[in-house]
Amino acid sequence: MSMARSLTLAVLLVLAAVIILPLVFFWPYLEGQAPVIELGAPLTHLGRQTPLRLAIKDEQTGLSMVKVVLVQGTKEISLLDKKFTGASIWDRKGEGLAEVSLDIKAPELNLAQGPATVIIEARDRSFRGFFHGNLSRLELPVVVATVPPRLSVLSRTIHLNRGGVGLAVYRATENTTLHGVQVGGRTFRGFSPWPQDPQARLCYFAYGDDEPQNAPIKLFAQDAAGNQATASLTVRLKWREFKSDKLNIGDEFLNAISGRFAGEAPAERQHSPLDTFLWVNEDLRRINHQKITEILAKSDTYQLWQGTFQRPLGKPMAGFADRRTYSYKGKDVSASVHLGADLADLAASPIKAVAAGTVLHAGPLGIYGNAVILDHGQGVATLYGHMSEVSVQPGQSVAVDQELGRSGATGLALGDHLHFSVLVGGVFVNPTEWWDPHWIQDNVELRFQEANLPWPRPVK
Ligand SMILES: [Zn+2]
Repeated sequence: MSMARSLTLAVLLVLAAVIILPLVFFWPYLEGQAPVIELGAPLTHLGRQTPLRLAIKDEQTGLSMVKVVLVQGTKEISLLDKKFTGASIWDRKGEGLAEVSLDIKAPELNLAQGPATVIIEARDRSFRGFFHGNLSRLELPVVVATVPPRLSVLSRTIHLNRGGVGLAVYRATENTTLHGVQVGGRTFRGFSPWPQDPQARLCYFAYGDDEPQNAPIKLFAQDAAGNQATASLTVRLKWREFKSDKLNIGDEFLNAISGRFAGEAPAERQHSPLDTFLWVNEDLRRINHQKITEILAKSDTYQLWQGTFQRPLGKPMAGFADRRTYSYKGKDVSASVHLGADLADLAASPIKAVAAGTVLHAGPLGIYGNAVILDHGQGVATLYGHMSEVSVQPGQSVAVDQELGRSGATGLALGDHLHFSVLVGGVFVNPTEWWDPHWIQDNVELRFQEANLPWPRPVK
């Protein structure tokens, strides 16, 4: 080997040691993939206290820093400035995930009401960007709003029955985005049906038959920033006990019901007719009520009905909120609450809309058999169950007294009858209030008179 060739080889070896080996070692540090910033929920407003949840990921070299800055005009407020050291450079990998959880309290930051910007920056441990790492930057335009809506009650004393309905009429400023009445753990959504007076609002709310005594009742109005104003309503609750009923069930009944629901019940609940009945009466009932809640999620802003509801024809067979115990061979096997009125007339008699409304559901509905659900606006709805025939379609407008179909014994029923329910905000309520003209006068008409507002019907 000549001298020159040896020298060349030596130079190459040195080059390999000085340039190529470090290059191979540090190659991963030259990655160009910036961190990914994910927002837990959209951030559009800063209220009195607004959560900011972030998940910041960097799968290649890991994170080196995360910053959150709030900018308004010339003001710059650092909300978070976090540096990640952790792993040494020889580990090639730093923090892959950072979860940030901040509660931004705008009133403590001396901000003006109005626009501001939240800037989120994250860098990784890459050698790019002159060793500063790859940068991800998110700029979120927000609105600072720390003044809650103003709320004033227009209703005087509301007389409420256990299992019954109340109507609250109130005024809330135009920055309100969500409003209504809370009863215990339930929230009833209010409506703004007076276009000529956009601050005027109403909310039908129910004192459910399952609500404990002394459940708190309050009015609320919330803005887009989550600021909430509350006001108390003067409510006089009349407590009453509901009827208890014992139903003796025999094999004939169980065979009929289990045969009817054989296609719906899960195989493991079909070991005996009693087992299938228990699934229908308890599990299917719960599934159906969940479905009804979903169907009732939408309701018209305007009151679609007038006067009072019509009482469906037929002899009363069972009442609202009857506590039913089912007894089989001398033993109590199941219990349920009857959330409507049962009315029996001639078989296959016409079933008519008790008030004008819009069809939300028309067809099979588990324990209620073939059923129709009508929306009457402002969260008020009616349900007609066990029908043999349904003659309306979802989406269709119906007039009061318009035929919806024919009575029958479909679902969890043996004899031909109508099961009729009234629901307010998805809660089953006592139907008798709605066909009583005195109740309508004292609990609906009077509320509008007290507030000096017309009946909230659509402007024609
Ligand atoms: Zn019934």
